[in-house]
Amino acid sequence: MKIICVGRNYVDHINELLNEKPTSPVVFIKPDSAYLENGKDFYYPKFSNDVHYEVELVFRVSKIGKNIEAQFAHKYIDAIGLGIDFTARDLQAKLKEKGLPWEKAKAFDSSAFVSPMQSIENVENFFQQNISFSLKKNGDIVQEGQSNLMIWKIADLIEDISKFFTLKTGDLIFTGTPEGVGPINIGDQLEGCLMDKKVFELVIK
Ligand code: ZN
Repeated sequence: MKIICVGRNYVDHINELLNEKPTSPVVFIKPDSAYLENGKDFYYPKFSNDVHYEVELVFRVSKIGKNIEAQFAHKYIDAIGLGIDFTARDLQAKLKEKGLPWEKAKAFDSSAFVSPMQSIENVENFFQQNISFSLKKNGDIVQEGQSNLMIWKIADLIEDISKFFTLKTGDLIFTGTPEGVGPINIGDQLEGCLMDKKVFELVIK
């Protein structure tokens, strides 16, 4: 299983990090060792002093596919969840500055937390719905997003990603974070809400 992540997919998040708006989706991959299952703990890594949360909608691939057209994309997805793309922002800044790959800052162990997945197989036109989500840190809302605000919608992302990477059953697609990213500390409690329903609670150890 691989984890495919999209960067810079919400205008307000691009602005908060002073990044340039891309002309095609920014995509990076996390290995399966980055996957952090719901119910397991996140341990603050020793190589960073500035780990950030990024809450994102996550979709699960239901069958193998290559060169998928956007209009058929929904046939390749069977579930949705909420994830956190943990990012070592200090390390990422150094790597970006030198134009180096950012895997060490983005794809480290446990950097891809995912809530339990909810089936969308029998939900008609799910991709056309506006899906809302949010993240609370220690009880305060820090991020709020909705799929309508994505620069590239999920169907467009699948079309673009599958030109480069064969999608396989069980792969996860992180679709980018809205504005409001920020640091975590040991002891913080994160809580995710998907379509007005609490879907996870995670404590930083
Ligand atoms: Zn992200």
